[in-house]
Amino acid sequence: MHPSFFERNFSLFSQSFHRFGRVPLFHRPRVLSVYKPSRTISTLRRGSKVAKATTTIRQVLNYQADHGLWFAANQALFNRVAAFYFEVIAAHEKVLDLSNKDALTALEKLTHTTQKNPTPAIPLAEIVEHIPAMFRRAAIHAALGSARSFYSHLSKWRSRREKAIAKGKKWTLRPPVPPRSWNKSATLYAGQWKQRTGSSIVLKVWTGTCWSWIKVRITGRELPADVEVGSPVLVRRGNQWWLHTSVEKQFSSPPKIEQQVTTNAETKICAVDLNLNEHVAVCTIQTVEGTILATKFMGGGREISGFRKKQLGRIARNRGKTGMIAEGEQDNGDLWHKINHVDDALAHLVSARIVQFAQQHEASILVFEHLGNLKPSRGKYSHRGNSKRAFWMKGRIFKYAKYKSYHEGILTSRVNPRHTSRECARCHSLVARYASGQPPEGYTSGTPLVLCHQCGMRGDADRNASLVIGQRLIARSQKPLQGKPPTPLFAERGEKSPGVAVCQDAKHEEGPSLLQARHADRNEHGTAQDRLLGMAERISDIPHQLRLFTE
Ligand SMILES: [Zn+2]
Repeated sequence: MHPSFFERNFSLFSQSFHRFGRVPLFHRPRVLSVYKPSRTISTLRRGSKVAKATTTIRQVLNYQADHGLWFAANQALFNRVAAFYFEVIAAHEKVLDLSNKDALTALEKLTHTTQKNPTPAIPLAEIVEHIPAMFRRAAIHAALGSARSFYSHLSKWRSRREKAIAKGKKWTLRPPVPPRSWNKSATLYAGQWKQRTGSSIVLKVWTGTCWSWIKVRITGRELPADVEVGSPVLVRRGNQWWLHTSVEKQFSSPPKIEQQVTTNAETKICAVDLNLNEHVAVCTIQTVEGTILATKFMGGGREISGFRKKQLGRIARNRGKTGMIAEGEQDNGDLWHKINHVDDALAHLVSARIVQFAQQHEASILVFEHLGNLKPSRGKYSHRGNSKRAFWMKGRIFKYAKYKSYHEGILTSRVNPRHTSRECARCHSLVARYASGQPPEGYTSGTPLVLCHQCGMRGDADRNASLVIGQRLIARSQKPLQGKPPTPLFAERGEKSPGVAVCQDAKHEEGPSLLQARHADRNEHGTAQDRLLGMAERISDIPHQLRLFTE
């Protein structure tokens, strides 16, 4: 089980995140069904043309009140059995050298009483009796997962400690601890459920006193067709029980970026410039041979920044009132929750819009620039926190766009961010960057306009940067032999991040001299001003004072 998206992200701010169990900190607003592709992107068999993408379908269960108690009893039992098997594994660590299938057999032999195996070494029946085989197996797999994770952390910790000691360094880091409490969701293997339809399912659960089949109604998004359906998982969120089902879609994997770029001049590339200013994202579509087909501006940056700053200011003031904060405790939980929720909603919206735009224009490659490192900015608490979060959001947008686009057969890449805003997309000389009303000279970070004195190109600075990003990918793919550069030689300040200084790679890349981007005028054909209008309804659970994406 993956931690839910929210919990995973919340761990950025929360110290209460437990490595093994999940401690629900805040409850998600109740919605009927949430569809979120999971973060698993993998390719079947290296070199084959088949790729698979895994998605989790989350559905709400409707049940009688006492059935909720049964689900809880069922989960408690599942965790008891999983904890038991974790102990068994700890006593027989060698089991972990086996594949999951063989480990399962070995663990059953150690614990399960059968006619052929009348006296297992550590009988499960002494702890709990009458566990259905499939329930036991699901618990064994849960225990194996936790054990593998724990022992790999432990061995990493040991080797790091050894290295440190060998170098004569002081080693103070504590070793990882095995799970102290178990809070896993019960996976229902075949045999624990039946008669699944779009609107109901029959589940076999432990009621606390016996095993019972109950019919439960399902609401929300139905399972998509043409997918491989995994075992459903009974998940509790707050007081609500959900059914999570992972589904796997197989499709033929797209050709590699390098191949697409070198073999087809018509390949369309969607390049994205992510910003900390008003235009959160600026996307352009260009072909490999350099024709610019479309541009899209996605706004909302100022609103989100203003909203965040206000909340951070409130947190700072609250902290000022209460004085010391207890160590390891999350203060101002509601406010943090709000900020995180809004950031995440925006990252999802922007990434979805980017992928949609790429799809509309049949782009097969999505390209971003590397983010560089976050360096803390100076100033007030609210300012520092704000720029940090804006920086993180760029990472989230990339991450979400990557898996969303992969589901559509679009590949994602990143290029060296060095000077993408300073270079002219048409002739690759240095540009002047300025605000309207200012003389077009010099370079003022964060200003909206560019002018190239060399070739006369003028226009939007972020759009120019986006085109340069796309061209870098093309140039890199056409020069596949150019290896990765050594460690950066020097760091320099990011030019378009007023709050956050970005340490950029000093990777040298020659300008793509062969690729003369055909710039038209500023009001280019195909340029769309997209303010994410009309999307506000979809994030209606965003706190009231925030009105995003409106002019
Ligand atoms: Zn130029």
